Amino acid sequence: MSVLSSKPIISELKNINIAIELLELGARTQVLEAVTQLTKSRASKLYREVTGESPPKGQLPFSADWFLSWRPNIHASLFYLIYKRYTARLHDAESLAKAYRRYKEILDDSDSSPEFTITRAWTLVRFIESEVLAERPCSECGVPFIAHAQDLPDDYRCAICNPPSRAGRTYKAPTEGVMVNRKQAG
Ligand SMILES: [Zn+2]
Repeated sequence: MSVLSSKPIISELKNINIAIELLELGARTQVLEAVTQLTKSRASKLYREVTGESPPKGQLPFSADWFLSWRPNIHASLFYLIYKRYTARLHDAESLAKAYRRYKEILDDSDSSPEFTITRAWTLVRFIESEVLAERPCSECGVPFIAHAQDLPDDYRCAICNPPSRAGRTYKAPTEGVMVNRKQAG
């Protein structure tokens, strides 16, 4: 990190700046505590100042399985592809904010998912860091999707290539022609 990190006041200001950005994107206070080093009481105070409301009580959504159901999986996989592009040069809090903002921009004109909140996005990153979830390339299209870190079949197929039947109405299957071309190319 830069020399700024060793200067407490500047470091504190940077922390608060990024915390405000995360709050504006909808983050819960637990996310602030984890990625900005704000204390619990300061995170709660800032939450009230920025949102005008008391922080919601109760547990964060902690189920890894949630990310594996069809729609959330597509959103989670897209978010993580974006997130990785930022982590190489930014620290966690900035990567999270920038990636989530970009994710929302990409989905603005299309089919956004209000359930895939920034708090979910952060939870996803934690599940990947703790090796509960991982990116796995689809055996059909090659795109990395979020999947279980263990016990995955070699012929794993992603949520787009292998949608559940109830999703079929809004999903356009690849044509025979595409399949044939892919085989010839391979
Ligand atoms: Zn695929």
